[in-house]
Amino acid sequence: MTKRSPITRERANDAVHSALRQAILTSALRPGERLNIAELAEQLRVSLTPVRNAVQLLAAEGLIDVRPRSGTFVATITPEDVVETFQIRGALEGLAAELACNLITPEQIDGMRRHLRALARPVRTVADRQQHERDNAALHMALVLASRNIRLLEAYHRLNAHIQIARVHAEDAEWKDRLRDERMEHDEIVDALEARQPERAVRAIRVHLDRACHALTRGIDVRRAAV
Ligand SMILES: [Zn+2]
Repeated sequence: MTKRSPITRERANDAVHSALRQAILTSALRPGERLNIAELAEQLRVSLTPVRNAVQLLAAEGLIDVRPRSGTFVATITPEDVVETFQIRGALEGLAAELACNLITPEQIDGMRRHLRALARPVRTVADRQQHERDNAALHMALVLASRNIRLLEAYHRLNAHIQIARVHAEDAEWKDRLRDERMEHDEIVDALEARQPERAVRAIRVHLDRACHALTRGIDVRRAAV
C-alpha cells in the first residue's frame, strides 16, 4: 500500500471533485444518471475515499442526489426548479439594483462594462460556452456586490442559479440564438445603474430574467418531449 502525504490526498479530493463537477456541468454525466462509486474510482484511478468525499460535496451543492437504500444519482432539473430559482433571483437582484443605484462607483460600472465586452465574444466551443457563463455570472455578481449587503450576497450565493443555467445550456444548442437579446438586456441593466435610475434598473432585470427563465424552462420541456 502506498503512503500518501496529506497534500496528495487533498489534491486527489480536489481533482475528483472538479472532474465530477465538470462532467455534470457538461452533461457527460446526465441528469438522473445513477453513479457507481467503485466504477468512478476505477475510471479516475483513485481509491473510493476521494470519490465518496466528492459525492458529499456535490450533494451539498445540489448537483447529486444521495437517496438512502436506492443509490446515488446526478440531480435532475425540472422546469419548476428553474422557475423557483429565477423568482428568488429576480427579487434578490432587483433589491441589489435598487441599493446599487445609490452606492455604485464609476469603477464598478467600468468593471461591469468589461464583463459586457467579454460577453460580446463569439461562442463556438464548449470552452467558449463555459467562459460565457462565467462572464455572465460575474456580471450578475458585480451587480449584487454593488449593493454592499452581505446577507443579500450570501442568499444569492446559496441560490446557485448559475450552476442550473450551465446544466440546462449544456443540453440546449439553441441558447446561442438568444445571445443578441441577452446583450441588449445586459446593456440596459448597466445603463440604468449608471444613470442611477432604480425603477428602470429593476424593470430591466425583470425583463432579462423573465426571458431567460422562459427560454431555460422551454429548453427542458423540449428535451423531455424528445425522450
Ligand atoms: Zn445575464
